[in-house]
Amino acid sequence: MGRRARRGLDYTPLFRFLLGKVGEDWDGVRDEAAARLDSPDPIHWLVARQPHERSDYVRIGEASYYSGLYVDDENRLRAVAPELGADDLEPSCPCCTHTFNGVRFGRKYREPER
Ligand SMILES: [Zn+2]
Repeated sequence: MGRRARRGLDYTPLFRFLLGKVGEDWDGVRDEAAARLDSPDPIHWLVARQPHERSDYVRIGEASYYSGLYVDDENRLRAVAPELGADDLEPSCPCCTHTFNGVRFGRKYREPER
């Protein structure tokens, strides 16, 4: 059961915590985050373990997007695309409220061009 059952948990507080720690030393951030979790896996939904895993943003569930994070050479937590904001992304459907780091997207859904 374990893994599947946990998938329904709301990790919003974890993601907000991580976003608030950008620029700080990763060891302390990771330990503090992991202490609140059964498994460290959700940390790495946002924080890339390897350079090829880095992405500008990560989608969690249907319509919640967060900054992609990584750990730099000085062991500090960083955003992959720090300039990216809620006005830069396109909603993927008209029915959901899309958010980026908890902020509503500025753009409206547009029908795909045919
Ligand atoms: Zn929708």
